[in-house]
Amino acid sequence: MTPDNRVSSAAAIAASDIRQPHGHYDEEGGASAQARVNAAVRSFVLDVGAVSALRLDSCVHCGMCADACPFYVATDDPRYTPIHKVEPLKQTYKREAGPFAPFFKLLGLKRKVTIEELHEWEELLFDSCTLCGRCSLICPMGIDITALIEDARHGMSEAGLVPKALYEKAYRQHRSGNVFGLSNEEITRRLAGIGQEHGIDIPIDRAGAEIMVCTTVEEMDAYPATVAAMVRVLEHVGANYTFCSQAVDASNYGYVGGSLAWEREGIVRIVEAAKRYGVRTVVMPEDAFAYVALRWEGTELYGKALPFEVKHISEFMQEELAAGRLRLKKGNGADGGAVVLHESSQLLRRGGVVGAPLDLLEAMGVAFKRPADHGAFAWCCGGGGGVLENERAQPLRYRVFEARMREIEATQADEIVTCCSVCRRTFDDGVDRFGWDKRIVGLTEMVAAHLAG
Ligand code: SF4
Ligand code: SF4
Repeated sequence: MTPDNRVSSAAAIAASDIRQPHGHYDEEGGASAQARVNAAVRSFVLDVGAVSALRLDSCVHCGMCADACPFYVATDDPRYTPIHKVEPLKQTYKREAGPFAPFFKLLGLKRKVTIEELHEWEELLFDSCTLCGRCSLICPMGIDITALIEDARHGMSEAGLVPKALYEKAYRQHRSGNVFGLSNEEITRRLAGIGQEHGIDIPIDRAGAEIMVCTTVEEMDAYPATVAAMVRVLEHVGANYTFCSQAVDASNYGYVGGSLAWEREGIVRIVEAAKRYGVRTVVMPEDAFAYVALRWEGTELYGKALPFEVKHISEFMQEELAAGRLRLKKGNGADGGAVVLHESSQLLRRGGVVGAPLDLLEAMGVAFKRPADHGAFAWCCGGGGGVLENERAQPLRYRVFEARMREIEATQADEIVTCCSVCRRTFDDGVDRFGWDKRIVGLTEMVAAHLAG
């Protein structure tokens, strides 16, 4: 469904209206409990189409999705069983939209979801899910549980029941186009500053470009060397590219925060800028969530096919490598120590970008290891899907992260390379939190350090 089909109550709520955290839920705005329930139910019903209904009905309660979920595995808490996280959606579907809905209603066999249940499920839908897709991969019935969790988040957003810190970021992006609340002029000034600092010219608003490149203000702030590395790679392969001042930042907190209206805004901003410059390709930054929002939800939310190709930077580099334009010299990781590859769940399972980091690392001659569970079964870092932004989720997130630490320790690697900046921020935070003696590096920076000639 499109965001225009529903009442976007969240969009009308000012950040100053966010109530202080209460227990494990936050509320935005001053809507009554009944109004929140009605908004959630309306959204749940709109989202449960024929495909979702089939999914909800085919669960055989085998419990396999529990063992696939990093939050369940780290806690043994049955509340974190993935299919349990969509129980309000399921309950609403059966009562309001399923084939036996009149029967269920008449006999009172399915209650209407209550505000207390929605409060409880806010934690299950936002704090204990990174949208990593591992549950969907494992389910023997082919139920895309992650997609159902996304549907359920839409209802929670409509009800104004989103974790405070995550909501605030999404709201700032809605108001100003980016999570720091910066003007386009300030962002381009900072971008030019990164160019000066790294001794490169960063093209902004260059007419006639065939490729539009995006980054995020968070990557510019935390990893300016990654932005510079993207530019070095693009120059190396002879690309005709530009950043566009109207759409430098490609992050999409509407996507992870459950607001279809705000997710769509972020997509439209990029599409309109790309159309203005007539580019054929948009290269997205390392932020895997920004990529997935545009690449896989862009067409539906924009309402028609995107007039350009969308490529994650690792995918772009992989294609340039195959075409022979990206020439890499052999070498080690940054420290010369053992390197382990952390594969981004969002990019791999949700984004379909398979093999790019492997091809690039092999081309660089980096002797890298992989954790015991890797590839399609790789575990997520625990910070995606808005969990890293969600302050109250941190104790739970660190339990998941400790499992990742044990897994990485078993490889005896000194350096962790990843091609997702959300994973990288999560690992960097873990290094600080636990005093972990690991160095985290972004794949694009590593590639830029291996450019031949
Ligand atoms: S793995 Fe699939 S079928 Fe089994 S409990 Fe989970 S959702 Fe149901
Ligand atoms: S998407 Fe990942 S984190 Fe979310 S419920 Fe499924 S396995 Fe757990």
